[in-house]
Amino acid sequence: MATPTIAVRPMKSAQIPKPGADFQIIEREIPQPGAGQVRIKVQACGVCHSDAFTKEGQWPGIQYPRVPGHEVVGTIDEVGVGVTDWKKGQRTGVGWHGGHDGTCLYCRRGDFRNCQNLKVPGISYDGGYQQYMVAPAEALTAIPETLSDVEAAPLLCAGITTYNSLRHSGAMPGDLVAVLGIGGLGHLAVQFANKFGYKVAAIGRGAENAPLAKKFGASVYIDNKVTNATEALQQLGGAQVILATAPSSKAMSELFDGLGPNGKLMVIGVDSDPIQVTPAQLVSGSRTIQGWASGTPADEEDTLRFAELTGVRPMIETYPLEKAAEAYARMISGKAQFRAVLTM
Ligand SMILES: [Zn+2]
Ligand SMILES: [Zn+2]
Repeated sequence: MATPTIAVRPMKSAQIPKPGADFQIIEREIPQPGAGQVRIKVQACGVCHSDAFTKEGQWPGIQYPRVPGHEVVGTIDEVGVGVTDWKKGQRTGVGWHGGHDGTCLYCRRGDFRNCQNLKVPGISYDGGYQQYMVAPAEALTAIPETLSDVEAAPLLCAGITTYNSLRHSGAMPGDLVAVLGIGGLGHLAVQFANKFGYKVAAIGRGAENAPLAKKFGASVYIDNKVTNATEALQQLGGAQVILATAPSSKAMSELFDGLGPNGKLMVIGVDSDPIQVTPAQLVSGSRTIQGWASGTPADEEDTLRFAELTGVRPMIETYPLEKAAEAYARMISGKAQFRAVLTM
């Protein structure tokens, strides 16, 4: 009788071996899902600015080596014990919200987004820069048929963050909403803001972005290089909301006075420098600053449904997994048009 051989099925991963190190393309064994988890055969994974937390070791407690990636779309390939709502062969995705404990005070209040033990793919566990990944069932999002893998992936972080922050910003149809930065987040923010019925002022650097900003639905394009954007917003009556997508605290500070009365600076681009605003600037006109982080898988499904309904789509550059380092460098340089997506 022949001895049965145990086939080791290898897969490719793009991992960060230690903080600040370059990407390594490695082969390793396909992981098994544990109880309450599924294995996803990854088809596409977006490259997000927040992947720098993993690449550069800017997030406390990351265990290395670590595989980044939290804009993951693929097909369920194996289901762990106790998972009843998801089936093999089903399309699914995982975004920034990579799992919650269901037991902390915030979860008991139904506020899963603020779970005290929130998990993030690519930070808490290996993410989507690889051919297969394992994720907890509560982190999964259903992907509509009409969206392709590479289109859906960026909607699971860049998309949901702009959609969810805007829909909770308090801006009403017809209000002036400024979008600071026309990049991976900003080009989606302009589209969502337009479909929400806002008057959209897109603020970018350089005249070359003007035609695209208009195409995405901006009423006005303000070139921050040659125009004082604060004055330009005030001439339009002052913004109800400035959605700050560019990770520049300096640009946010300089633009704050472009807000009208009761206006809100909504911060989603993350910079490590402080935003500088005086109490007088806040008090005058009762203006506010708010930060916003992503959302739950249910919010992701709302985002995908809205994109499906209205035609909002990311503009992408695709790279094979082997070129993860190149895709990441392109994203960090700010030159990607407008979201880099890895394909497996
Ligand atoms: Zn992200
Ligand atoms: Zn919790």
